Amino acid sequence: MTQPIYLVGARGCGKTTVGVALAQALGCNFVDTDHYLLDNTKMSVADIVEKEGWEGFRRRESGALQSVTAPGTVIATGGGMVLAESNRQFMREHGVVIYLRAPAQILASRLEAFPEEGQRPTLTGRPITDEIVEVLAAREALYNQAAHHVVDATRPPAEIVEAVLHTARAS
Ligand code: ADP
Ligand code: MG
Repeated sequence: MTQPIYLVGARGCGKTTVGVALAQALGCNFVDTDHYLLDNTKMSVADIVEKEGWEGFRRRESGALQSVTAPGTVIATGGGMVLAESNRQFMREHGVVIYLRAPAQILASRLEAFPEEGQRPTLTGRPITDEIVEVLAAREALYNQAAHHVVDATRPPAEIVEAVLHTARAS
């Protein structure tokens, strides 16, 4: 694999979990755009949003996407990466984009089991399940638009890795 593989999808769909395992299977690098951003700014997402607003966060996120793009890399992207048309286009042009698709109820149960306290403020301040249903409804079309391939992410991580390897090899 020389082209980067971009994993897109909502919070909790398994971008980090699957991305790490996929990179291991391919013997290549793994980067997470959220982690890259935090390492580089030394601020949490919550800090950036508080200081610069979501707009500032989104601008930094696009910069992170471009910085981490390199051959032989599996890239887990932030859940909102697909919001900007320029990010969707950039990913499609520079690599293979995989949408890890899972319904809202599954995302909610995963995030409720392992909440990421302090990592990211809720977008609406409402209960997590309501928010996930709403955010997913708003973004589903964008994940589909960004992706070259859609993979069922409700299965165990090892099976998802196999499915991604299969589709990425074919492309
Ligand atoms: P993302 O990076 O897309 O937000 P994560 O990889 O952090 O998602 O996964 C969110 C939570 O769901 C973690 O607790 C992880 O262990 C769990 N998880 C991820 N993928 C799966 C899966 N395929 N099946 C069951 N649980 C999963
Ligand atoms: Mg993640």
